[in-house]
Amino acid sequence: MKSGWVDRDAEAIQADGAKAGIDPDLSLRIYTTRLLGRDPKLVLHGGGNTSLKTRMRDLLGTEVEVLRVKASGAEMASIEPAGFPALRLEPMRALRALATIGDDELVGIERANLIDPRAPNPSVEVMLHAFLPHKFIDHTHPTAVLSTIDQARGEQICAEVFGDRMAFVPYLLPGFGLAKKAIEVFERARACEGLILSKHGLVTFGETAREAYERMIAFVSRAEDFIARNRKSVAAAEPARRPPPVADVAPIVRGACSEKDDKTEGAWRRLVLEFRTGNAILDFLNGRDLQRLSKAGVITPDHTIRTKNWPLLLDAPEPERMAEFALSSREKAQEFTKRYRDYFAHHNKRAGGYKRSLDPLPRVALVRGLGLFGLGRTRQDAIIAADIAEAWIECVADAEAIGRFESISEADMFDCEYWPLEQAKLGAREEPPLAGQVAAITGAGGAIGAATAKCFAAAGAEVALLDVDRAAAREQANAVGGDALALACDVTDGGSVSAAFAKIAEHFGGVDILVSNAGAAWQGRIGEVDEDTLHKSFELNFYGHQRVAQAAVRIMRAQGTGGCLLFNISKQAVNPGPNFGPYGIPKAATLALMRQYALDYGADGIRANAVNADRIRSGLLTPEMIASRAKARGVSEKHYMTGNLLGREVTAEDVAQAFLHQALALKTTADVTTVDGGNIAAAMR
Ligand SMILES: [Zn+2]
Repeated sequence: MKSGWVDRDAEAIQADGAKAGIDPDLSLRIYTTRLLGRDPKLVLHGGGNTSLKTRMRDLLGTEVEVLRVKASGAEMASIEPAGFPALRLEPMRALRALATIGDDELVGIERANLIDPRAPNPSVEVMLHAFLPHKFIDHTHPTAVLSTIDQARGEQICAEVFGDRMAFVPYLLPGFGLAKKAIEVFERARACEGLILSKHGLVTFGETAREAYERMIAFVSRAEDFIARNRKSVAAAEPARRPPPVADVAPIVRGACSEKDDKTEGAWRRLVLEFRTGNAILDFLNGRDLQRLSKAGVITPDHTIRTKNWPLLLDAPEPERMAEFALSSREKAQEFTKRYRDYFAHHNKRAGGYKRSLDPLPRVALVRGLGLFGLGRTRQDAIIAADIAEAWIECVADAEAIGRFESISEADMFDCEYWPLEQAKLGAREEPPLAGQVAAITGAGGAIGAATAKCFAAAGAEVALLDVDRAAAREQANAVGGDALALACDVTDGGSVSAAFAKIAEHFGGVDILVSNAGAAWQGRIGEVDEDTLHKSFELNFYGHQRVAQAAVRIMRAQGTGGCLLFNISKQAVNPGPNFGPYGIPKAATLALMRQYALDYGADGIRANAVNADRIRSGLLTPEMIASRAKARGVSEKHYMTGNLLGREVTAEDVAQAFLHQALALKTTADVTTVDGGNIAAAMR
């Protein structure tokens, strides 16, 4: 591992800091923290922490000695001064006299000693930083170092790798107990440059930011060299046969890793997937010891809150035997959740019986011969789980190459997973109603599609925006923000539809809600209209709906967790307008299509509903059309747009709300919801 220190950058950050009144030591503390944070081989997703001991004025202007330590869960790569809350050092140090202290009490004392009472909570490792005397302290979880310490013979191997430059601290749950043990070990060891926290990570310290940082890099490099020199040659694994496409495997895995919600009939707890593969992953997945390793545990304790302690291990899927793969995946996922429930019940009893179980679903699925999936309630959580799973594979493979991988005990994993201060890193998240669900919206570049994508994303769904105009889909996906996926899709082309739904399955793991909205209007008096016009309209306004519904149902059935098809049928389906036959007739057929899906797939838990909307400003009703129609009727544009029973203009957002309502109404299928401000001629009967 190479040092990332650049004198010029260090000087620049100090110079910029000076202008903002930031202490030069704090500027360098920020600089090296970012250097550490940007390397995924050192820390991942909020892991690791650093500190600085300095002096500053409190709110009353008195100068005091403070500890500035990274805030709990803050990202090191992008940290700012506010990410280093300052605490009075002396009262924190005085806590060493206590034998133990409760979590709530400790957090209370920390908060009482913050210089700025609005500052975020300090890192869960704050006491380690307070007790050690050094000015700069860096703590990371480097993959290479973990390969040398996550070993049955960890202490001996560390002595070989690091000599007496590092002192060895036996495993304890991070927090007060570990901090007390660490300072004891440090005081016993004479001159060490850092501490190894067994089965957890590395601490280095120094009088300057650079010294602590360069020591970290040097020790990680030593571990890397040691692994390279001592690697046993591992027998090449049997190469896998050609696996089926990820798009076919992902919905099966996603379905297997879902759970019926026992509080609401028809509801499921679903997860979003992120797929990863590559030579290192495949070599590992094809290895002979995979079964043992998949039950071995995490590489550093705080990963448990992201990946749980163990991945789900699935068989290699074969293209011509997908039904068997689906069956075995379900069985294995059920074994996984049963094992998780037993693990929780057993350790909760030991811990006093007052903990509440997290959901028992896996957060990492290893599929032999194919790759791995990270799983999460959001796509971001799935990505984090996948990143950690990749680091886990790298670390465990190297640990096995120089010895035998060994994690902390199951009891220790439980204590970390259910430690309130670890769970606090995830934040108190109120779950939105569509959390864990994936919605695909066609015609998403237009007004109604875009409003629906925004509405569904705000309700917690992951959204895929499909439009024949890729740039329009992209623009609206950017407006939605987050992880919205933009895809070019021409619903009049079967190949384009298949490709788009395969992309959705690869990207999110599957689909739960389809909003089939793409459409365009053709006019003509039905007795005289040419057949070509009628064909074109049917291709888009009927077959387009059928193609996307078929593609969505195929994925929904592979998941086995139901789903929801929503169609935009427009008022023309029930209340034809003069000379609008070429548009209204295929829309009427689409109303029948919706009912047919409701009938044929109700037993699969797949619901089908439609919205009958009218007079919405959109690509089908442009400002020019509004002007000309208003003129033709001799009314104002405003009057034309509000010409309904309620006298209110209907917007794309109103239609989006109707789709959302249908998506959430778990006992409603074959329904048409009218969104037109009131028009008796278009009312359902
Ligand atoms: Zn740590």
